[in-house]
Amino acid sequence: MLKIGILGYGNLGRGVECAVKNSPDMELAAVFTRRDPSSVKLLTAGVPVVKIEDAANWKDKIDVMILCGGSATDLPKQTPEFAKLFNVVDSFDTHAKIPQHFANVDAAAKAAGKIAMISVGWDPGLFSLNRVFATSFLSDGKTYTFWGKGVSQGHSDAVRRIAGVKNAKQYTIPVESALETVRSGSNPELSTRQKHTREVFVVLEAGADAASVEKQIKTMPNYFDEYDTTVHFIDEEEFAKNHSGMAHGGFVIRSGKTGWDGEYKNIIEYSLKLDSNPAFTSSVLVAYARAMMRMYHAGVRGCTTVLDVPPAYLSTKSAEELRKELL
Ligand code: NDP
Repeated sequence: MLKIGILGYGNLGRGVECAVKNSPDMELAAVFTRRDPSSVKLLTAGVPVVKIEDAANWKDKIDVMILCGGSATDLPKQTPEFAKLFNVVDSFDTHAKIPQHFANVDAAAKAAGKIAMISVGWDPGLFSLNRVFATSFLSDGKTYTFWGKGVSQGHSDAVRRIAGVKNAKQYTIPVESALETVRSGSNPELSTRQKHTREVFVVLEAGADAASVEKQIKTMPNYFDEYDTTVHFIDEEEFAKNHSGMAHGGFVIRSGKTGWDGEYKNIIEYSLKLDSNPAFTSSVLVAYARAMMRMYHAGVRGCTTVLDVPPAYLSTKSAEELRKELL
């Protein structure tokens, strides 16, 4: 049995707890939090919630610590720090900062003789893997990634920071006609605006100016200014009824040519449709924690990513059982 620790108990923390429950080869040893442990209620009975400061006492009682903090400020600090004590997995998703994060975690894990895996999830994660597969198989081609329809936590937070906004949810939506053009194999050049639209549902504070809030959303640099955005103002009741979910998904598509003169067209498409982004991401984290420990026992140390993992290591089935499924 692999003994799992969860560090940080938010959406992903709870998702990992559920995924561990559904993994016959794992058990949850403890959950670690920065908050008062008595305020954190787990779904599993009998598992201790421990103050993060006491984590070092659990060094020899946990095989893998799954870090479930936020990418913006928690993981850049926590993953290298806890890689000194545990084998760790995280879901760091700030794409541009992955090389720096990798270097920090790699140095900490190597010095401690531990293994680590960063940026596990679906993007980065499964989408990254599929971009590598598709590009390797169709070297002469073009890759496209579309996200949605789904909730962007970062964009929702950005709208909530506008004065007068009580609550907000932002959906990223792929443009159907752009998807169809890509699937046709014509390899179009698509601008940011042509690939996705954004839709925002806002609950206003009493007395707030709707026109001003809408203008601030639509012109917000980096978040909305490069997109066609629709803003809807709704009441709290409708918000709670229709916009409390965390569905997401997306598509990685590569279209490319094979043959002597590129006479054959090929399309590779990988898509995800997820009822709950954190619940799915957590299932991916748990499967990669299993794989990472197999790599650890094979002698691998330092930081790794999903790109380094032999697929058979992810499965609860043995290599022999999996080989039967190749036939
Ligand atoms: P949350 O905001 O739900 O949780 C982040 C942390 O907030 C928790 O670990 C928890 O730490 C802390 N927290 C503080 N107060 C509370 C509270 N009242 N309730 C819950 N948590 C609280 O983030 P998510 O779990 O949704 O996501 C974590 C990260 O996962 C995201 O930042 C994102 O970058 C990444 N992610 C990556 C994906 C991928 O495909 N690679 C996909 C989806 C997410 P503590 O217990 O110590 O207080």
